Amino acid sequence: MKTLYIHIPFCQKKCFYCSFVVSVGQQGKAGLYLDGLEKESKQYYGEKIRSVYIGGGTPTSMSQDELKRLFSIIYKNYHIEFNAEWTVEANPEGLESSKLKIFKDAGVNRISLGVQSLNNKYLRCLGRNHDAETAVAAYERIKKAGFDNINVDMMFAFPHQTIDELQKDVEAVMRLESDHLSLYTLTIEGQSRFYTRKIRLADDQYQAAQYELVCDLLTKAGYEQYEISNFAKPSKCSQHNLNYWQGGEYIGLGVGAHSHIQGERFWNTSRFNDYLSLMQEGDSAREGFEVLTPFEQMKEVVLFGLRMNRGVSIEQTEKRFGCFLSDEQKEKISQFIQNGFLVQEDGCLKTSSKGRLVLDELCARLV
Ligand code: SF4
Repeated sequence: MKTLYIHIPFCQKKCFYCSFVVSVGQQGKAGLYLDGLEKESKQYYGEKIRSVYIGGGTPTSMSQDELKRLFSIIYKNYHIEFNAEWTVEANPEGLESSKLKIFKDAGVNRISLGVQSLNNKYLRCLGRNHDAETAVAAYERIKKAGFDNINVDMMFAFPHQTIDELQKDVEAVMRLESDHLSLYTLTIEGQSRFYTRKIRLADDQYQAAQYELVCDLLTKAGYEQYEISNFAKPSKCSQHNLNYWQGGEYIGLGVGAHSHIQGERFWNTSRFNDYLSLMQEGDSAREGFEVLTPFEQMKEVVLFGLRMNRGVSIEQTEKRFGCFLSDEQKEKISQFIQNGFLVQEDGCLKTSSKGRLVLDELCARLV
């Protein structure tokens, strides 16, 4: 069964580090955008869906009527599995209780809140639209609306961020007692304002020490780390993300959205106005595609598997895709095990805490 991702690109202003597909000041075209989403959805009419994720941008920046229309488009076109995980991404600013009620009534059962930090100095540094007080109030509002599965996005490795500041920030975020936490290091992406400002970040060693501190604090606070950047309370792992990491199929709608169906990955244009005109003139905003060979699919499942704490069974993955890792790749894996970066445990290949600090490099050498 597939999962469904819908991209809502609208944002009030672009944060300084943002490299996502966002459209600032285009809120007035939300109706046209929903027309496009409805046309795209018709191509998947009757599809069974096991999790829904409405991401952005800032989905909560849409009006109540626009949100209601979005949910009716989903219900008109898809069979949403009973007890499917249904997430909406929200930002603290403008998160009204009335919109949370619309989500609840529509069957949304998980909110992902873009907190990023509870230190106002760094929220200003990121160019975020909210401060710590607004974030905490938004979190309380989500709780009050009856949601019992809440993710908080948190960032670290800000310019000149001290270990002490980081510890205080993590402790403040942990006081929210969210069910799930997604952790991101600040990176300087080409399309971001930080890139043009030539912002300098701490070196890898310092960032590794910060990462280990955060992992240690969250684990001691009762979070289970199930993926390199994701922590959850018991039974609150993200089912939507697990599908990606296990090579599952997914439908992506909207500007810049990706889909993966029957070994083919395809994506829509990431230019907002092109998406609108393509969907007005026709019924596809597809910009590109690639056909993944079984070997490529297997490789991805192995690499994603190494990012998960439970690891990956090479044997089962090879059987699933009917192909085998090369002798060279198996030789490298043995070396990584000898050097303590990977461990073979419970029939699975797993990444050690030492390996996690250099996992990108290990994966780059494995492909
Ligand atoms: S709120 Fe998120 S998507 Fe919007 S500009 Fe900021 S980082 Fe980008």
